[in-house]
Amino acid sequence: MTTNQVLYLLGPEKVELRREPVPRPGAGEVLLRIEAATTCGTDLKVYQRGGHPRMLSTPCPFGHEMTGTLAAVGPRVTTWREGDAVVVANSASCGQCRFCRAGRENLCTHLLYLNGAFAEYLLVPEPFVRRSTYSRPPGLDPALAAMAEPLACVFHGLSASDLEDPTECIVIGAGPIGLMFVAELALRGHHVILGDLVPERLDIGRRLGAAGTVLVWGNREDGNRLLAATEREQGAQLVIEATGFPTAWSNAMEAVATGGEVVLFGGCAPGTTAELNTHRLHYSEITVKGVYHHRPATVQAALDRLAGGNLRLEHLLQERCGLDGVESALKRMASREILKAVVFS
Ligand SMILES: [Zn+2]
Ligand SMILES: [Zn+2]
Repeated sequence: MTTNQVLYLLGPEKVELRREPVPRPGAGEVLLRIEAATTCGTDLKVYQRGGHPRMLSTPCPFGHEMTGTLAAVGPRVTTWREGDAVVVANSASCGQCRFCRAGRENLCTHLLYLNGAFAEYLLVPEPFVRRSTYSRPPGLDPALAAMAEPLACVFHGLSASDLEDPTECIVIGAGPIGLMFVAELALRGHHVILGDLVPERLDIGRRLGAAGTVLVWGNREDGNRLLAATEREQGAQLVIEATGFPTAWSNAMEAVATGGEVVLFGGCAPGTTAELNTHRLHYSEITVKGVYHHRPATVQAALDRLAGGNLRLEHLLQERCGLDGVESALKRMASREILKAVVFS
């Protein structure tokens, strides 16, 4: 190893592939040779906006879903060895604050983010080595292992719900995250109805286990369209919003059953407000929960699930490319031609 190719984000829709010296891990650090990285809706947002208020500011390397093997291990690293196959999560919590102590590490006051999956090598800082590095299950395809991060977000989202017995669920949005919700809920035995604007994505949803699909229009009528697809038009016990558009937040309230739950997953743009049907919220005792990101427990759960091989998430990886193909893959995601790409450096 002599040079490291790293894809930099310079600003809105501006990237550059740079060659840099391969970093050497210092005390507590490791050097990850990235085997696979996957593109994500967040990467697309970051690429289009030229940054992210919490996660990164340009110019900087980007990409955050990754797996690889350890090419070198710094002094005082006792838990890992050179050659270990690992998944590194893109955030590290402090373990000390009141949120961390309560097992809500995703809300950690000092949460750190790690970016730079679109590269050959990535230096993994000490807090990530200590708290956010996981063994990759033997035999797990690196392309699938890289998706542990988004799947961990899905597991975190589902942990907000009290659902136990199999029941009817609605997922609004058939992007990669919405489709992962579909696959996991179906695997848990739920009857899943999926709503999206794109017929091809509904087809993928059916392949991942959706029992019913609804072609929505992206307007306020969609709540009723989704409601009409539920049993006796009574609404679903759980509605998951996975679009990041306030209209879908509002529609979720219309499609949920009396006493049911709404999980709001999709992050809307800063400053966004959404209408909520207060009559339904109150008289039908709807539980509404916002969920963000993932926790160490859900990263491990996601890896265990991927190792089980039952989710068939390979349907989401609709393009394979090198580092020089990331930008065009992001553009193809923007035009809804592909869901996700896997990047091999
Ligand atoms: Zn992601
Ligand atoms: Zn903390």
